[in-house]
Amino acid sequence: MKELEKQSQRWLKKRAWVVFSKFIRKRDKRCFTCGGKVENAGHWKHGHTKAGFFSEQNVNGQCIRCNLHLSGNLGEYTLKMAKKYGQKKAEEMWKEFSKDYNWTRSELIEIINKYAQDHDNS
Ligand SMILES: [Zn+2]
Repeated sequence: MKELEKQSQRWLKKRAWVVFSKFIRKRDKRCFTCGGKVENAGHWKHGHTKAGFFSEQNVNGQCIRCNLHLSGNLGEYTLKMAKKYGQKKAEEMWKEFSKDYNWTRSELIEIINKYAQDHDNS
């Protein structure tokens, strides 16, 4: 814990993404948008300064084709989100995830501790 407090904000954010995306890749069995193999953790609303960046709803397992080659396969992603959460709720979530957000150091440390634990315990 002490060591994390010495790190820069930039380092903490990178580290938080590493443990968070590992958690997502472990959680999901199939690519959210095509049902293929999970190789990445892919965002619905993209952007590392957006409120959805570390959201368990906004990030789902994806294959490399959908996440990288199709830039998230957004059309399909949106359809799947609407199917999973309902059209209205999905629209609200999109608005929420699209807000600008800056994580504080302590929030990033919390994320790291939370998801690193989940990962280590299994
Ligand atoms: Zn896919």
